Amino acid sequence: MTESTDFVQIRHAQKSFGTLEVLKDISLNVARGQIVAIIGPSGSGKSTLLRAINDLDALTGGEVWLDGVQVNKQLPHRQYEKHINEMRQQIGMVFQHFNLFPHMTARENVTMAPKMLKGLSAEEADALAKEQLDKVGMLERIDYYPSQLSGGQKQRVAIARALAMNPKLMLFDEATSALDPELVSEVNQVMKKLAEEHMTMIIVTHEMDFAASVCDRVLFMDQGVVVEEGPPEQVFGNPQKARTRAFLRKEL
Ligand code: ADP
Ligand code: MG
Repeated sequence: MTESTDFVQIRHAQKSFGTLEVLKDISLNVARGQIVAIIGPSGSGKSTLLRAINDLDALTGGEVWLDGVQVNKQLPHRQYEKHINEMRQQIGMVFQHFNLFPHMTARENVTMAPKMLKGLSAEEADALAKEQLDKVGMLERIDYYPSQLSGGQKQRVAIARALAMNPKLMLFDEATSALDPELVSEVNQVMKKLAEEHMTMIIVTHEMDFAASVCDRVLFMDQGVVVEEGPPEQVFGNPQKARTRAFLRKEL
């Protein structure tokens, strides 16, 4: 266990793709139970930063820590594979494009990882799937395939699937951006509920109203740097930097 303010730490994150420097010395601390929104223009490095947290995009420099353990620590290949798989099990991730397994029902999508990775019996995994699908309001569709669900329903199943691993941290990368407007709020409601349950979350979003109402802190990124951060009242209500003001004028 670590100090609560150090629950998630990104220390001097740097990431280059070839000669393109996408993250330039980004540091971020998230306390246990805190909800941080990341906003910023397309191409500013938001997804790369989120993917660096569970090492889907390996940083070129810097460190990521979760609950006192370094996620991207240097280890021989075999040991690293084992280590990163254990870390990824603690970090739930929901992407813009629903990445449910198309040939599996909602139930099977949710039970697969707990059975394979946590050794749950079929009965245990099934009870867990019911619990998690109920939580996101999808219990009545438990035996539907993704193709039989709306975008909002698929995203709710994706959240249930992530929650079934009992993660310490949830990452959302524009989870509602691909949805028809009328389906956005059902997904936002689920995220709000998680917030009320004090799930630690980092949320990349274009929805300023949602960020303002749910998040404890807002980070504005542009061109690979954190331009400004603070409580939503400050970043949205009284932005200090010209770049933040220009971005918000376009978004709001
Ligand atoms: P955002 O999520 O804020 O839109 P991204 O993190 O997706 O930004 O991308 C930041 C920059 O990194 C963009 O210029 C993008 O083209 C580039 N980029 C992202 N992934 C790759 C990759 N795998 N290879 C090369 N360039 C990449
Ligand atoms: Mg992105």
